[in-house]
Amino acid sequence: MQSKNTQHTLDNPPKQLRAAVSGGSITGLVTALRLAKKGYQVDLYEKRREYNRNIQWGARQSLIDVLSKIDESLAKVFLKTVATEIPRGSREVAEQSSLHKNGVYKNKERPKPKQGNPNAEELSGSEMLKRKTVCAMKAQDFEKFLNNYIVTFNTLKKALASSIKIIPEGDNGLIRIFKEKRPDLTHDKQTDTWQIAGQDPYDLIVIAEGANTDTKHKVGIKTHPASRMLNQIAGMVQRDRHGIMIKHLHTEKDNNTGEEEYLLSGLISADNKPSQSWIVGDVSKEFMHKLAREQNEREKVKLIRNEFKRVASRCMLNSEQNIEDAGFEGAVNTKDIFVLELQAHISNKAVSGKNLVLAGDAVGNGHWSVGGGMQIAAIAHSGRIDALADAIKHGDNLTEALKSYNDGVLEDTEAWLLEGIKDFYIGLPKTVVIDSYKKVLSEFKNNNSTNIPERLKEEVRSELAPDRFFQ
Ligand SMILES: Cc1cc2nc3c(=O)[nH]c(=O)nc-3n(C[C@H](O)[C@H](O)[C@H](O)COP(=O)(O)OP(=O)(O)OC[C@H]3O[C@@H](n4cnc5c(N)ncnc54)[C@H](O)[C@@H]3O)c2cc1C
Repeated sequence: MQSKNTQHTLDNPPKQLRAAVSGGSITGLVTALRLAKKGYQVDLYEKRREYNRNIQWGARQSLIDVLSKIDESLAKVFLKTVATEIPRGSREVAEQSSLHKNGVYKNKERPKPKQGNPNAEELSGSEMLKRKTVCAMKAQDFEKFLNNYIVTFNTLKKALASSIKIIPEGDNGLIRIFKEKRPDLTHDKQTDTWQIAGQDPYDLIVIAEGANTDTKHKVGIKTHPASRMLNQIAGMVQRDRHGIMIKHLHTEKDNNTGEEEYLLSGLISADNKPSQSWIVGDVSKEFMHKLAREQNEREKVKLIRNEFKRVASRCMLNSEQNIEDAGFEGAVNTKDIFVLELQAHISNKAVSGKNLVLAGDAVGNGHWSVGGGMQIAAIAHSGRIDALADAIKHGDNLTEALKSYNDGVLEDTEAWLLEGIKDFYIGLPKTVVIDSYKKVLSEFKNNNSTNIPERLKEEVRSELAPDRFFQ
């Protein structure tokens, strides 16, 4: 690191700062671009050969501001080619719900996305979450778009004209993309820094490997479950809902236990992709019991597809036959529909040693219903990486800069967790769940051995005693 007072001359040029970013989805791509803009030479590692997730992301205006901070033309092209408006707004429907005996049907308008503001203030997670979703996009379209921005020749020319130099793999540019799993991390005890085997030393390593990364364990960071586990089903229906977001709450009887359970499903239909609607929703316990009992693999596939049709038909207010006729595919291209597990998580810290930090879902993750994760990463965490990169560049107090990063990203992620916790416990009154969760998260901050889901259960129980919701 160079000190603040270093005089740079032709014989004593400033040191070329080097960063590695591991994980090339949204967190990694935005981080790599922002670090390059700061003058860092960046190595970006992505183990997937292709971007193939069908997930739809809703996003706030602040995402477009972040893109315009990187390059105003990037934000312009994003608006033209990736983002789609939500002209019919969002809708919340609740039926057969003990919480809403007479049903609920709420419509909210969504503002149109505008050209970004490169001078917009950096937002924390909680500030960002207060803003309204203004557009939607398919995850793989956004990932490919940012990846192409890094590698294409035209953009290279544009980038060279601005202050970022972005050069494709193989050249000595400021972002090198390695389409491979990051090589092993090694730790230098003397300097307390992490390095990547076979590479020159890095001033900063950003782990943007998503919620399931096992790197945290390697660098001494623990992940803690922060909600109960939900089983969900997701996919893309080849049917139009003309640019609308729908959240659908539903209550069902469970034939095994005779208890009621609460289900949630969501839909985003993108306006300029008229033939597709993205669906994701909880599956019932009864369904999971049935699936576990079924031994025949083909029958299992049939069961899963039927359950998807059921969730989709409820959410799209359409018949299962119509969903079947329209056709549908899984959450990942070429894969059929599958059941996924959703559980909130939070890390005990986001920094290891003097040069390694976590960002994005690697820090923690909440419920998708909030539309928070991609934006927590791209807006809030990326702003904090920017500040950390500046501190390293200017030779500021590194311990303070790392502490500020650590506290900041954990706070951002906690804001997402707090916003989404009610949707892990749909059947319980929102305020009780949120108030109890606030208390438990603050306990966790003081004592990382707190079992968050168990403590939440105790807290809510002391208010309501609804054992059945916690099975
Ligand atoms: C069903 C669903 C719906 C969602 N809807 C929304 C929404 O509407 N709005 C929103 O803002 N968010 C939404 N989210 C959340 C959003 O998808 C995540 O928050 C976001 O993908 C996190 O990005 P990330 O880059 O941190 O991690 P990931 O997207 O998980 O990416 C991690 C990347 O790292 C790579 N990687 C992992 N390990 C290595 C390694 N060792 N070496 C190299 N590469 C590696 C992986 O291949 C992957 O590309 C949703 C999530 C789900 C599951």
